[in-house]
Amino acid sequence: MPTVRPKGKGLVLMGGPCSVESERQIMAVAEAVAEAGGEFLRGGAWKPRTKGGDWEGHKRMGLKLLQRAGEAFGLKVVTEILGPEETHMALKETIDIFLAHNIAVFQVGARNAQNQELLNGLGEAGVAVLLKNGMNTTIAEWLGSATRVNQEGLMLCVRGKNNETDIARNGQDMAALAHLVGMGRYPIIFDPSHITGRRELVYSVTLGAVAMGVDGIIVEVHLDPQMSVTDSRQAITPKQFGTLVSSARKVRAEYLELAREREAFAISEIPSHVDIFFKASELAEVARIVGKDAEEFGTYKKEHEGGLLTARIPAGHMGRFRQEDWAIGKIVPQTSRDKADTIDAVHMTLPSGAKIRLSPYNEAALEFRGSKGSYAVDFGNRVELAHGFANQVVLDAYLTIEMGRVTEVSAARVVLYRPYTES
Ligand code: PEP
Ligand code: MN
Repeated sequence: MPTVRPKGKGLVLMGGPCSVESERQIMAVAEAVAEAGGEFLRGGAWKPRTKGGDWEGHKRMGLKLLQRAGEAFGLKVVTEILGPEETHMALKETIDIFLAHNIAVFQVGARNAQNQELLNGLGEAGVAVLLKNGMNTTIAEWLGSATRVNQEGLMLCVRGKNNETDIARNGQDMAALAHLVGMGRYPIIFDPSHITGRRELVYSVTLGAVAMGVDGIIVEVHLDPQMSVTDSRQAITPKQFGTLVSSARKVRAEYLELAREREAFAISEIPSHVDIFFKASELAEVARIVGKDAEEFGTYKKEHEGGLLTARIPAGHMGRFRQEDWAIGKIVPQTSRDKADTIDAVHMTLPSGAKIRLSPYNEAALEFRGSKGSYAVDFGNRVELAHGFANQVVLDAYLTIEMGRVTEVSAARVVLYRPYTES
């Protein structure tokens, strides 16, 4: 299998016509793509068409022309496979015909993105695949399709969905694109041509995607766009392709330069979830605030009969507890003065706005335990605090918090939380 995965930091460049139309056309475009520094020549030999009777491509002749042009200009070829060449043929035979024409990457188009037979066949053959998203598939469905083919040679091609916006032919969700790039599992090849459907938008949309970190682009290029037999409205000229590539490279360099900033942003300290601890008697209230059914919610984890309940919830709810005047305690790690290990403390904000810090080392805790002068009161591997919920143990927080000791706290509804970080 040819090496097709982007290895370096450079942008993978794919360009060529929507359809292979003639030898002159494919040769001239291949030359322009090679000149711009492209690595792959694209071009459809079998064209998926919306209605029957329309021209469906030069088929085998198209493969021959692609092979010739690719070899003449040192480009790898990516072209779409629709299925078996003839209905009576086995898919494997068709794949072999593609391979015999030195096709490096098998494009699976939007219409076939969930064609199980085709994907399984390509997977069995172990060939490299450029898998487009379906006309309206979810990312999960797309990734499901992706599992069917050889993982090493797989690239995902983002081509928008057919929920036409009032401008774009196939709208592309930017958040989805950022998510895919961030996943980092497969190289992401961006297709501005089928997304916009309009050549005048290809430049900006491509540069935006490159700034977002896509690994490569696949662009429809035609010698004489208005004469293009298919997708003429979105084709750009070879000269435009050259301009596009040189700008895209500059944006790519900027993108690479910002690696540290990206990393710093990604390791933000805002957790996605928190573990909360609250009194069982307040279950219904907590469930309401979190927007869950109390029955289902309460069974998450029960600690101590009639005592404390815990649950893991999305982090965004803590503000609502505050809004409703709960006393909120954040469980934070604290290093003891004379031990290297860390234990937990609670930073509590009362409804009045007053803040108290509850730790095994605060004066009140030590005094209450009658051990002023020594730093910690250790019972096994559990440290006790003087303040908190009466006789209730937050087991994995190593806290025993006896709330009755602080009147303001005992009068309030209390929730403790600890950021949950996936290990
Ligand atoms: C194409 O690449 O020309 C094509 C038919 O694309 P899609 O499958 O994304 O519509
Ligand atoms: Mn096309």
